[in-house]
Amino acid sequence: MSHAIYDLHCHSSLSDGILSPEALVSRAKDKNVSVLALTDHDTTQGLARARAQADIEGLELINGIEFSAQWRNRNVHIVGLNIDVTNSQLQDCIAQQSSLRIQRAKLIAEKLQGLGIPGAYEGALEYASEASIGRPHFASYLVAKGYCKSIQHAFKRYLGTGKVGDIKQVWPDMETIVDYIRNAGGVAVIAHPDKYNMTRTKLCAMVHDFKQSGGGAIEVVSGKQADTVTRDIALIAKKYGLLASCGSDFHAPGQQWQELGCFPEMPVDLDPVWRDWQG
Ligand code: AMP
Ligand code: MN
Ligand code: MN
Ligand code: MN
Repeated sequence: MSHAIYDLHCHSSLSDGILSPEALVSRAKDKNVSVLALTDHDTTQGLARARAQADIEGLELINGIEFSAQWRNRNVHIVGLNIDVTNSQLQDCIAQQSSLRIQRAKLIAEKLQGLGIPGAYEGALEYASEASIGRPHFASYLVAKGYCKSIQHAFKRYLGTGKVGDIKQVWPDMETIVDYIRNAGGVAVIAHPDKYNMTRTKLCAMVHDFKQSGGGAIEVVSGKQADTVTRDIALIAKKYGLLASCGSDFHAPGQQWQELGCFPEMPVDLDPVWRDWQG
């Protein structure tokens, strides 16, 4: 029998994913995932539904979240795995993230209004429905109203780095987020380290600070990345004494580079983040 597939990073419709928690878990099962962590952006709302479906499908579900955080003026993403969702400080932090997201959404809408695009806040809210609102919901609105031909285009023109909708949101410090995760019994994981457009020196400085503040792991494999990237992040994991995590960062069917359970294997000489978990 081949080894178990761990996918420890993905999104449902409770953040910016397309699938309901139930459909997500069923798809993970179809893709032969044995252990799945649902890590919606700044919310744990989907976990109970995902767990109920995981029980039906016979798949192990890990309680996760992907927090938006700040490190030296940059936005970084920190995944929390095996968190106790009933932890009241964690839920206070999530409530605060939610109001920051709403504030930011209103500012994005103001900027778009200034460019002659009305109704974006209400429009994006409709796409978000009960989810934590984010830029992808604005992208959906811009596409639906014919301002952009695709989600990618919406990011390129209005929402991505350096564009009007890229509001400089001040999220809590990375160190603060790591504390919340640890106090809720979880392990903090640096998400997709290759996606921050940092120099290697900068990335190492971030990893150093993360480790100092009690961070536990780093995503050595994030989606279908190149082997050179995997090798480089593996070296960083070893250098800073971090456990290794892996995940697809799945958001929607049809995005081949981030399909549930489909990514390169983790280098065998690393300690996986699940090393200390009970089977
Ligand atoms: P937010 O959490 O509101 O800052 O939105 C960030 C999310 O937008 C990421 O988690 C991605 O899912 C998505 N995203 C970021 N950049 C792009 C892009 N260029 N094209 C499509 N989706 C993107
Ligand atoms: Mn996302
Ligand atoms: Mn992310
Ligand atoms: Mn993600």
